Amino acid sequence: MNLFKCSVCNYMEEAESIEHNCLKCGAAPSAFKMLSEEEATKVYDSERSNDLLMQLDTLSMEMVDIALEGIDINLDPACEKLFTYANEKAWEIKQLVKAEIENHINKGKW
Ligand SMILES: [Zn+2]
Repeated sequence: MNLFKCSVCNYMEEAESIEHNCLKCGAAPSAFKMLSEEEATKVYDSERSNDLLMQLDTLSMEMVDIALEGIDINLDPACEKLFTYANEKAWEIKQLVKAEIENHINKGKW
């Protein structure tokens, strides 16, 4: 089994060969390029980490929702301070995750 990547939209597919148009952008089969073994290994080795980074991004946005509700309730100053801190940290985590994902993509680890 080989790993192919659409040169138009970057959609990837495992196959022996590509006989159909790209599922994402409709490009002809000739738009698909087979990844080298080294390139494919990078993609496979980074798959779990990329999934975890995306989960972390989702959780950071859930943390923002929680923090904003806590700030809105404004039970007491200590509570508001904690929720404000959590909101700031959640956005920092999101930005860190985005930077790491971009680094993975730039290194072919996506
Ligand atoms: Zn495509």
